[in-house]
Amino acid sequence: MDEDCIFCKIIRGDFKTAFVAESERVVAFNDVSPVAPAHILVVPKLHITALRDLDDLTLGAEMLGLVQNVAELSGLLDTGYRLITNDGEEAGQSVLHLHFHVLGGRKLATSMG
Ligand code: AMP
Repeated sequence: MDEDCIFCKIIRGDFKTAFVAESERVVAFNDVSPVAPAHILVVPKLHITALRDLDDLTLGAEMLGLVQNVAELSGLLDTGYRLITNDGEEAGQSVLHLHFHVLGGRKLATSMG
């Protein structure tokens, strides 16, 4: 728990944010500024700054499991979805608490850059 971290506050329940899905160590909630019709963040409850700091790969597997659940719950399995994580400044990470973006619900640009 990092007192200044917005995602820690969400996980703690400070903003009464509804969770799209939850597992023992991971939560999923809607992005506040969605860039696609479906834009869900999958976030470990433990404060981990970025993917580079994820040592417990069983937690990484649990995050991927919740991604699959979220994709199914959001109706994205027929059309497909994109999974992104930004690690560090040049990737554009703005919240320093590890998260995966699940994006779908429209045709996404194929550019990676
Ligand atoms: P990144 O730029 O990869 O670090 O992504 C951070 C994401 O967190 C952005 O897409 C923001 O829109 C999202 N975000 C920031 N604050 C909140 C919040 N309070 N609730 C939900 N999503 C948020």
